[in-house]
Amino acid sequence: MKNGEQFSFETRLLHNEHKVDPSTGAVSVPIQHASTFHQFDVDQFGKYDYSRSLNPTREALETIIAELEDGTHGFAFASGMAAISTAFLLLSAGDHIVVTEDVYGGTFRMVTTVLNRFNIDHTFVDMTDFESVKAAVRPNTKAIYMETPSNPTLKVTDIKQICDFAKEIGALTYVDNTFLTPALQKPLQLGADIVLHSATKFLSGHSDVVAGLAVVKDPELAARLGTLQNAFGAVLGVQDAWLVMRGLKTLSVRMEHSQKGAQKIAEYLNQHPLVKSVYYPGLADHPQYDIQHNQASGAGAVLSFELESEEALRTFVDHVQLPVFAVSLGAVETILSYPVKMSHAAMPADEREKRGITNSLLRVSVGLENANDLIQDFEQALQKIQASHTITAQ
Ligand SMILES: *Cc1c(COP(=O)(O)O)cnc(C)c1O
Repeated sequence: MKNGEQFSFETRLLHNEHKVDPSTGAVSVPIQHASTFHQFDVDQFGKYDYSRSLNPTREALETIIAELEDGTHGFAFASGMAAISTAFLLLSAGDHIVVTEDVYGGTFRMVTTVLNRFNIDHTFVDMTDFESVKAAVRPNTKAIYMETPSNPTLKVTDIKQICDFAKEIGALTYVDNTFLTPALQKPLQLGADIVLHSATKFLSGHSDVVAGLAVVKDPELAARLGTLQNAFGAVLGVQDAWLVMRGLKTLSVRMEHSQKGAQKIAEYLNQHPLVKSVYYPGLADHPQYDIQHNQASGAGAVLSFELESEEALRTFVDHVQLPVFAVSLGAVETILSYPVKMSHAAMPADEREKRGITNSLLRVSVGLENANDLIQDFEQALQKIQASHTITAQ
């Protein structure tokens, strides 16, 4: 089934060219463990020779993600950071990049402690402010790196506006699409050159695999990235490739359910007197609500909210029962994270403050529970803050 384009996204998640194994009829992609492949001719090697370069199981995942992102080539890596770091190797010493200021902590670490040693300079900008993006550009700016919605304050970048501008100045555009996935947002359609994923999150969806993906549209860029994937060698193992493919089959239903829950929880928190602020692009008062709804088909399943103090946050975390309190997001179970100590621990405190990542900010990645159960659980934990106030006041 190669002409999947006539079907909707949900259907294409299941009915792609890897739906049935042509040699056995198996309805699951075979896991090919071989690291090397026998060559039947001294001069004419087969399509596969060594699994770092190409492996049929990994290749199945790579073609599936390429199709889902409306690209031409996909690449699977050992982690999201391996995908991001390998894509950064497209740059050369002397280049400059412009990066979303509240970027994922690991990306921040790569840009500020690794790329800088290879003489690749950077400027962090509020990517929602087009004027500051323009002001950050230098003659040697070779790439603009976006993450939208951003992490953890859910700021939304106008992808098309930035991509149009990048084309004018001859810079590549990278978009980390981990939070929304192609179920909700297709950066390549909006003009981006490279889409990146931590497939550890929504794409696989079950907190049981670490993986990364990159997708491009332009064949020449694909050839360069393919060479880098093989040269650097941080490829995804076959068992993990299979787990990501299994997770992908339920991506639409998971995103839809979790997103509905996130909307409900964001609205509940938004009216709660003990909650100082809620960051979620599905709320009508979100500053980039219109941009989000023009460029994506939903607001996603991640939100964050600020309590009045770190003490209140500690009381809340101590009493909340349903979510796991953990690093990561995009899973079947709801995950509550503390960005200051988790995703953004690699960011210096003053840099975090500038980005609004305070000691009283929590991030929620809504899972597949009934949202009313989550709200009930949050409510009892918030009431404990109130109770501790009363005790202190006495
Ligand atoms: C988790 C994450 C990454 C890093 O991916 P790993 O699979 O953990 O290496 C990158 N970007 C975003 C937005 C993430 O959430």
